[in-house]
Amino acid sequence: MSANKSLLILPGDGIGPEVMREARRVIEWFERRRGLSFAIEEGLVGGAAIDAHGVPILPETIARAKEVDAVLFGAVGGPKWDGLGFDRRPEIAILSLRRELGLFANLRPAIVMDALVDASTLKPEVVRGLDIMIVRESTGGIYFGEPRGIETLPDGTKRGINTEVYTTPEIERVARVAFELARKRQGRVCSVEKANVMESGLLWRETVTALQQREFPDVALTHMYADNCAMQLVRNPRQFDVIVTTNLFGDLLSDLASMLTGSLGMLPSATLGAVGPGGRRHALYEPIHGSAPDIAGKGIANPMAMILSFAMLLRHSFGLEEEARLVERACGNVLGSGLRTADIMQPGLARVSTQVMGEAVVRELDKLGA
Ligand code: NAD
Repeated sequence: MSANKSLLILPGDGIGPEVMREARRVIEWFERRRGLSFAIEEGLVGGAAIDAHGVPILPETIARAKEVDAVLFGAVGGPKWDGLGFDRRPEIAILSLRRELGLFANLRPAIVMDALVDASTLKPEVVRGLDIMIVRESTGGIYFGEPRGIETLPDGTKRGINTEVYTTPEIERVARVAFELARKRQGRVCSVEKANVMESGLLWRETVTALQQREFPDVALTHMYADNCAMQLVRNPRQFDVIVTTNLFGDLLSDLASMLTGSLGMLPSATLGAVGPGGRRHALYEPIHGSAPDIAGKGIANPMAMILSFAMLLRHSFGLEEEARLVERACGNVLGSGLRTADIMQPGLARVSTQVMGEAVVRELDKLGA
């Protein structure tokens, strides 16, 4: 039995607990069949925490998140809590976790599984085999830069201000994550900014170039302006391996890239922090979708994004590459066998519930892992 791997599981609201239940089946499979040992704690976040404790996340839960090896997060929010003030809303839970754990690198893979090649709005020949990783800086840039605000000018009109700010260390740490990822993939990084019109973009470009020359000469680095990158992602997305970019551009480009793949219900993500003493890195894994109140409680949510988030956890927090691939292959095979939740349903295939999908992934793991 390998050493305990500690996980904090935060299912949240809406479909969060429904899809988390299926991810837990997969976790249990690894404990049962592969001898992995997870020390699991569960906590309340979002609306569930507001109902129980009056706040979207308790300080104790944040403290536990800092202690464990990795956090697996479902989704938060829903109409029940929509009327609350901005600082009391369920979404504060995830923002607090990102801030308190210093999670600065958001990893969003855009992978097109063969079985879902027709679900993309792009032609199959453009997206078949697509496997991109977008690394978005997620704690700096224009969403956090000062000065910011809305001021009234002497003539009575108003001026809104936000500031794009990046320092050398902020750029280096996120670029380092991208270069390290590229080493385990196809060895290519494309750094994206607007160095033609923004000084912060120029610093970004110079800093990433210097880092590559100093620490990652084995990784191929290219640069692209963000507007061109948006166009290239639609024209020929397979040209990319790893893309690293700022908070603002990453927000737009990762959403664009995710839609190349079809459904929200398929897309996992990871957010990583700095490597601490002892080599451990704070990390949070979550599907990119929200709590989907429109389908919550119906048992029809797609659990794949949640299960694939657990695969990312195995890879990035524990270095369990083979195990991560096993989960990804099992998900691909289940889709290949024709099972579909409602969001990815295609004519002639079998429409199944959240639970049946989760159980099918576990059966497939049994087959592959035998
Ligand atoms: P959403 O992602 O919850 O849903 C968008 C659409 O996609 C809905 O029609 C939903 O049914 C569908 N969908 C999403 N995930 C699915 C899945 N796994 N299977 C099948 N269909 C799926 O986004 P929204 O409707 O804009 O937001 C709903 C709530 O979630 C809001 O309160 C929002 O603030 C919150 N939210 C939370 C997070 C998070 O927890 N990180 C992220 C986004 C939105």
